[in-house]
Order: sequence, then structure tokens, then C-alpha cells
Amino acid sequence: MKLKIAFLLLLLAILSPFPVQAEIRVDADFPGGNVKVESIDQGASRTGGEDEVMSPNASVSAQPSSNQEPTLSGANVVCVRPDLRDTKSNYFYFYFRVTGAENRTVTFKFPEKSTNFGAVGPNVSVDGGKTWKYLGEKDYYASGTKFPADQHEFTWSFGPNDSDVRFAFGTPYTQSNWDEFMAQYRAREDVRFETLCRSRLDKRDVELFRVPYLGQGKPRFYLAFTARHHACESSASPVMEGMISFCLSDAPEAQWLRQNAEIVFIPFMDKDGVEDGDQGKNRSPHDHNRDYVQELYPSVKAFKALIVKESEGIPLVFMDLHAPNIRGGNNEFYYSHGPIEMEKMNPIWNRFREKLTENQKDGTLKYESKRDVPGRSDGKYNSIRSFTGKDGNLSSSRVWIQGLPNAYFANCMEFGYSLCGNAIITPVSGRELGRNVMKTLAEILQEAKE
Ligand SMILES: [Zn+2]
Repeated sequence: MKLKIAFLLLLLAILSPFPVQAEIRVDADFPGGNVKVESIDQGASRTGGEDEVMSPNASVSAQPSSNQEPTLSGANVVCVRPDLRDTKSNYFYFYFRVTGAENRTVTFKFPEKSTNFGAVGPNVSVDGGKTWKYLGEKDYYASGTKFPADQHEFTWSFGPNDSDVRFAFGTPYTQSNWDEFMAQYRAREDVRFETLCRSRLDKRDVELFRVPYLGQGKPRFYLAFTARHHACESSASPVMEGMISFCLSDAPEAQWLRQNAEIVFIPFMDKDGVEDGDQGKNRSPHDHNRDYVQELYPSVKAFKALIVKESEGIPLVFMDLHAPNIRGGNNEFYYSHGPIEMEKMNPIWNRFREKLTENQKDGTLKYESKRDVPGRSDGKYNSIRSFTGKDGNLSSSRVWIQGLPNAYFANCMEFGYSLCGNAIITPVSGRELGRNVMKTLAEILQEAKE
């Protein structure tokens, strides 16, 4: 019987005027992957054509949600949502792969109760995650039109060779991106590739990249930089790459840094979260950047121990790199959080802002210091109390650093996911910004009195 059915199916396939198509598959089984698949309608089979058979879910796709002109298409419909895992509130990170959809037009529907996409829509890669382009990029650059905040779906027409197409909220960045960028420095003798600790799940190493002090006696400064306390905040990572590339460049300020400072970078504070594709922000019971009292996470415990041991008696400079919220207002810029209840740091912060304005003035990503958020003392946003929780048993990295006797300057910067002013953010423009951030830091430290 089974053989007969198989034979009939084979006969149908041969006689059919259209090729038999594979099943559409949606998955997140790769580093950084994150999706919850609600349903996949395998109904419609081809793109366009006058004799198109409409599926029950066929729809008119609307610009700017589609990568082709609006057509009445027999779109397959895939319903997905971000996989929140242990995130305590709703969040927006997703990164999934679609296979088996060659020659089909597929509409991806997201939950209608939340905003799902940034200012230029979802990001798309047709080369397995190597390069990315936002779906709304063309419209934004042509007419300044943003992807509508209340649009909960987009449509993609898969070409005959689109065997692996990926969609993400922002531009993903995982360990393979780090390894690829850092390969150029592997052979240098004046840097160290170290391990901060094992990750919480004991599956991975948490990287520490060191640019050792080359001068005599004690360094004048100890510089520490962290990223991805919140796993999904990938736009911070190219900025860190740019900071590293400036440190290792021949620029006079970079040479001065290496002669005067010990410098450490921790690219993935929540390493498991980054590789496993967690949102990370606001995870239960608290996220990595609220762990500076309780030390649930080995990377936080190890980072605190490293700083206390290595920077003792040396003026400490710290910058924590983040990405802000989904879209609108400040989220479509980058900005700096001012020192909190630390009067002595305010002049340094203001000098940093002044210099960064100058250094970034010809940069792709415009910096407007009016976007910065000064520290507060009233218990609201960017005050000490806003980081410490109801019972006072939480603390962020920056608040913890500020409390150390050798704290010289502690800062947190937020780098938007997709749009900065009127430019769409790319890894290239993120790196450019990072180089200027590091140059600015070097300049204000050079100005400091002996
Ligand atoms: Zn963050």
C-alpha cells in the first residue's frame, strides 16, 4: 500500500507542470538564533504569474514591507515571535533562518500587540549571515520614509538560489564575528588574548583581550571596556572593534595610550546569552548588568575581581557599551549616560562630550551631545536608585565602578540598532565611531594633570 502511494506521488510530481517544492523551514539552530514559530502555511507555491492559485491566506503585500513591487501574490504565511525565554518583560530580539522557500513569496507575521521592528524594518541576509541589509533601507534613503511602527508583518520573495535567508531585528554579532575581526591581531606581540573565566553554563570561554602597558613603573591609567551585559545589544560590538583598532593603530594618541595605560576589553559579558540568542536584557531573576552585588554570573564575579586586583592604586577609566530601546527619540541616535552623583566626574564627562563632538563631526553617525542623559539623584532614570532595586541588592557595572576609591571616569554609552540621525548604522560606521570614541578618551586622559 505504502509503495503504491509513493508511486502515485512520484507520478503526480512527474506530471505536474510545476516542480515539487520543499517544505518551508524556519529555525534558529545557530549562534545568536532566536525565534518562536507559531505556524507555517505551506499552501501557495510560486511567486507571481497570471495563473497564480491563491491560497486562503493570500494577501496584497504593501510597501515598504516587501522586497518587490506590490503584487497580488499567493503568499505563504509564517507566524513567528521573539523567543523571550527568561526575559521578564516583552522584548524584541529575533534572528531566524528560512530554508526551503526558493521561488516563493512569504509573509512573516509578528504579534500585533507589540512593536516588532526598528526604524528601517527587519534586517535581511541572503548569504548565511555574512552581510546584511535592512528591508526599509531603500525607502528610507529615497524618501526618508521609516518602516511603520504599527506594521507587524513583512513579505520576502525568495529567488531560485535563496536557500538560506536570515532575518534579524538588528545586525547580529556573535563570537565568529569577533574571531574574524580579531584574526588580524593574533600575530602581534604587544597584545594578549586571554580568558576572563568560563561561562555560566560552563560551555564557553569568556574572552578578555588585553593591550598591555608598555611604559616603565606603574601605568598612569587602567582602562576597562565591556560590552554585551545585555546579550542582544549587538550594535555595541562593532563600536568596540573600532576602539580596539584605534588602540592598536599608529596614531600618536594610540601610542600614548599604550605607553601610559593598561587596557582590557571584555567583548561578551553574557557570553552564553550571545551565543544562545537570548534577549538577555531584563532576564530573570536579574540581568548581567544588575548583578554587581549578587554575582550570580561568573563573568561579573571574575570582572570585579580582575578590576580590584589589577587597577588598585591606578586611576580607573571604565566604559560599558550598550544598545538602547527599539526605536524613536534617543533610540535613533547614540548617547552617553553621565556620571551619577559623582560631581568630580562631571567636568571629565563634559570634556569627553566636547571632544567627541569635534572628533566625530565628519563621521557617518552624527553625535549630538544634547542627546546625552545627565546623571540624576532623584531616584528616577539614570540615578543610583534606578539601578539598585527595591531592596538595594542590585547594582550595575557603572555604579559599582563609581564606588571604587580609584574611579576616575565611568561612563555608559548607548548605540542605536539601525538608525543614527539620518544614517543607517552598519558595522563599518560603528567601527568608525568606536575609533573616535577611543581617540577622544585618549585626548582627555592626555590632558589630565600628572
Ligand atoms: Zn543594555
